[in-house]
Amino acid sequence: MLDFEKMANGGLARIKPYQAGKPIEEVKRELGLDDVIKLASNENPFGMSKKAVEAAKKAIDEGNFYPDSNGFYLKHALHVKFGYDMKRITLGAGSNELINLLFEAFVNKDVNVVLPDYSFCVYGMEATINGAQVKSVPLNDWKVDLNKVLAAIDSDTRIVAFANPSNPIGTAIPSADMKSFLKKVPENTLVVIDEAYNEFNSGDATYEDSARWLNSYPNLVISRTFSKAYGLAGLRIGYMLSDPGIVSVLDRLRAPFNVNAVAQAAAIAALDDDEFIKKTVDNNTKERARYMEFFKAQGVKAIDSKANFVAADFAPHDAQKLAAELLKRGVIVRPLLGYKLRDILRISIGTPEQNDRFFKETAELLKTL
Ligand SMILES: *Cc1c(COP(=O)(O)O)cnc(C)c1O
Repeated sequence: MLDFEKMANGGLARIKPYQAGKPIEEVKRELGLDDVIKLASNENPFGMSKKAVEAAKKAIDEGNFYPDSNGFYLKHALHVKFGYDMKRITLGAGSNELINLLFEAFVNKDVNVVLPDYSFCVYGMEATINGAQVKSVPLNDWKVDLNKVLAAIDSDTRIVAFANPSNPIGTAIPSADMKSFLKKVPENTLVVIDEAYNEFNSGDATYEDSARWLNSYPNLVISRTFSKAYGLAGLRIGYMLSDPGIVSVLDRLRAPFNVNAVAQAAAIAALDDDEFIKKTVDNNTKERARYMEFFKAQGVKAIDSKANFVAADFAPHDAQKLAAELLKRGVIVRPLLGYKLRDILRISIGTPEQNDRFFKETAELLKTL
């Protein structure tokens, strides 16, 4: 018998597969339900911008052609919209692909990777796959403690990575703290800031676009996505901002046509729909406050979130049972068992109607659990 686990490279044998949120169709099929809502994968509850839908449909008509391998028009649109230097942009099939490429390019068995506890699981998986040791740093009241992170960095630390706002926890590192942290990190350690939830945090008065710091810190890498606020999760498209030297490395590693033409066209159109983003972010801000009120009223400890989800500690109620019962009632939420957080569920913020349904069902279930 062939032992593929032995034959596979590096740390693959030690990796558990990524646990995705349950798809709506699967829940409908398995439980025989027809009205199911998914508050589990931080997707946009309003769908895609109409402009993006139109652009995507048009692009399908030319599906016989390979996409623009360099994504010129999308990079140009990002330049026009936000002023980003096109030479600093790498496009990916979701920001997840870019994170994978970055780790594959820079991480190996001779280096280590520093990650706060409860980081987005992909960083740890990629560190392990590429043979590196992971140094974990405990959170402080669910927040990243940058002094502890700094203390964990040594001369072999190739990458320190965090999502800001974080996922699955939802807390954010203020811009001022991040800037003083960047000043202290050794220059041969890459600082990866994964800003998948950037748009939901940017209303904060103290928020600065971290892309402005790229000129001062060649070791700074920022990852962004069209999957969350822009609503293009199913099309798979994201971008990374970094020193052009890193762009050049990733360009050689990535597959030549890694981002499909439909996704590129949709992303360009999505960037041009400020109204859709505003509607999305405004709804999220308002509804997030309703979640906090709801949890307070229920005596559930919710973690202060800057993202489009709320993580809440249901102890002494049985969170796993709650998630299972909600599922039976057609509401999919996300247990954090993979993170060994048994009492915590992560709930993505939906439309007001979807959230009402979560509140009603949860309030009822909490009386019995
Ligand atoms: C959702 C998410 C991503 C992945 O986004 P894609 O662009 O869809 O690959 C990356 N990082 C974090 C922290 C996320 O929550």
